[in-house]
Amino acid sequence: ARMAAAAESSGRRPEDIALCAATKVQSDDTIRAAIAAGITLCGENRVQELTAHLAAGAYEGARVHFIGHLQTNKVKQVVGRVDLIQSVGSEHLLRAVEAQADKLGLVQDILLEVNIGMEESKGGVDPAQLRPLAELAQSLPHVRLRGLMAIPPISPLPGANRPFFAKMYQLFVDIRREMSDNQCDIDCLSMGMSGDFEDAIAEGATLVRVGTALFGPRPP
Ligand SMILES: *Cc1c(COP(=O)(O)O)cnc(C)c1O
Repeated sequence: ARMAAAAESSGRRPEDIALCAATKVQSDDTIRAAIAAGITLCGENRVQELTAHLAAGAYEGARVHFIGHLQTNKVKQVVGRVDLIQSVGSEHLLRAVEAQADKLGLVQDILLEVNIGMEESKGGVDPAQLRPLAELAQSLPHVRLRGLMAIPPISPLPGANRPFFAKMYQLFVDIRREMSDNQCDIDCLSMGMSGDFEDAIAEGATLVRVGTALFGPRPP
């Protein structure tokens, strides 16, 4: 309901924005309950949790995205097992995903993660390096570039991330215009979490990743 209200108040159609339930630290049973309650997409950010939930069949009835930091030595455990890897933020990782997808004979959908706040501590490609990385992704036969993802800086101030979301939308529009040669695979802009998804929707998100607002606070 909050997503729909945010869409409508910015003149967007609610059906153009999808919800990814961020299921980190949740149990198999909680994930099953969320899916029974209508969740159609889960986002996992640790390889170990992803592997365990997959083995337990906990995601049955929903799609799964990988949304966390991915080390190249763990791509084997993710490529081909999730519908979308949202967090490809370097050439090194992009090439590792391509290599594994090639080996498995499949095409892996990916988003490029952008370090929109230019934070030292964060993964993701610098905005200025996005274009060459997107071109590389487009040229690789076993990855399909579907769009962009961002995690802006943590801020306690409401509304503080709106300028970052607006910048992401501009990058998304530019990349889509420059890269989509008629096929228009680039349709996903993943941004916004529990504290700021309404602002992200107002600025053009097509996918929001929400954990706390669905499941309650996580243990520290
Ligand atoms: C945990 C997580 C979220 C959701 O965070 P909440 O603030 O609990 O909504 C979104 N994206 C990523 C990458 C996450 O790891």
